[in-house]
Amino acid sequence: MAPRTMVAGNWKMNLGPAEAADFAQELTLPPSTRSEVVLFPPALSLAALREELSDESEVALGVQNVHWEASGAYTGELSVPMAAEAGATFVLVGHSERRHIFGEGDDDASRKVEAVLRGGLTPVLCVGETLEERKRGEVAGVILRQLEAVLESGEVRERIASEARLLLAYEPVWAIGTGETATPEDAAGAHRILRERLVSYLGDTVGEGVPILYGGSVKPDNAGDLLSAPDVNGVLVGGASLDPSSFARIVAQGG
Ligand code: PEP
Repeated sequence: MAPRTMVAGNWKMNLGPAEAADFAQELTLPPSTRSEVVLFPPALSLAALREELSDESEVALGVQNVHWEASGAYTGELSVPMAAEAGATFVLVGHSERRHIFGEGDDDASRKVEAVLRGGLTPVLCVGETLEERKRGEVAGVILRQLEAVLESGEVRERIASEARLLLAYEPVWAIGTGETATPEDAAGAHRILRERLVSYLGDTVGEGVPILYGGSVKPDNAGDLLSAPDVNGVLVGGASLDPSSFARIVAQGG
């Protein structure tokens, strides 16, 4: 069965609690939307956003990063149980800014996905190649390495098989925050590669059911084409998710 279209907004380090509350008050989603909508505010803005969002909006919330331990001496970190208590149901793992600015590797992503699944939340694993890797013809090699690092864990495979909670986001690094967008054909090609590997690790039913989102300079004027591409099950939106009306226009194109 085709997964429900998901439109996710990653605010990165933008919109503090007061601005998050304003965003929620201004957000008007199309009444007939069938898309699943998720917002990833900074963790400090989660409570304000949750309080101001109307119940009818059915917007789910997530955090942009977690530590793999549940508690302890990890200054500056936050854990899965804390995120859950604050109202998050999704967690971004391995976003390119975590990988390339903060030096997170495949091992970190693997431990985080395990912790997120163990804690009952849904991980959104981000994968994507840099421009240099793309020019060297390494797209498939890079994104499959990033995916396999997580799927090699037996615990991850078992939990996904029994609870069906995992999303992937293909986010070419060269398209994030640059205004450059992958063509729908590029996105579809990468998604097909990921889909085949999901199926080979998880079997047909589970592997086909994992939603794969595209991310990288998605805007209201390109979202429709990207969302219509084969195997693109949703979008992960950065910059354009900061404005309630442009975010709502993207959501409207998810059906
Ligand atoms: C992102 O942060 O995941 C992202 C895709 O950002 P942008 O849409 O701004 O490129």
